[in-house]
Amino acid sequence: MRILLAEDDDGVAAALVEVLYDHGHDTRRVRLGRDVLTYHRSADLLILDLGLPDVDGLEVLRGLRAVSDLAVVVLTARGDERSVVRGLRLGADDYLVKPVRLAELLARIEAVTRRAAARTAAAPAGPRTVCAGDVEVDLEARRVRVAGVAVELTAKEFDVLAVLAGRAGTAVSREQVLDEVWGDAHRAVSRSLDVHLAQVRAKLGRPGLVTTIRGFGFRFGN
Ligand code: CA
Repeated sequence: MRILLAEDDDGVAAALVEVLYDHGHDTRRVRLGRDVLTYHRSADLLILDLGLPDVDGLEVLRGLRAVSDLAVVVLTARGDERSVVRGLRLGADDYLVKPVRLAELLARIEAVTRRAAARTAAAPAGPRTVCAGDVEVDLEARRVRVAGVAVELTAKEFDVLAVLAGRAGTAVSREQVLDEVWGDAHRAVSRSLDVHLAQVRAKLGRPGLVTTIRGFGFRFGN
């Protein structure tokens, strides 16, 4: 299996590369979060340290999940429950706290890979362009068109729209949007969500495209 290992600690990385190699895995090691976004397409599984020098690992995970279903095992010194929950909610398949037993890591990698294979067989990747009426949201290219005309959204505005459009026709809770876009369901950013969503609605000019479900969250499309 091709494994991408994002780990800035040389000692940890060397030990992991060796044991992975011994178990027949072709491993590419990178030091930076941005390298993950460069090389993820040529990997079957990502082992992701959260404390990376350039971008926080949870941000890397969020960016990756916008474009990929790659199996991800988070491997980190952060064992607090909050980080674990955030990592899993952002789409990590498993979460291991350092120091890790190598036999356990290998077993977890196998389990995650089996589940990923089952998932792929059961449900081929959904459409990456979502349409509702004359609104087209291209989740891969991060572009939006209304009646064939491109609409410019800021990165955060698009993130908010993408969380909803990615589950078109489904009610999505406020917490889910906050968690996926800001990595935090905290009150302080709750107001930002309303501001960004108001901007998205104003720019798209399609009332009813995003429905507010009182006391819960939102729904994109019908
Ligand atoms: Ca680190």
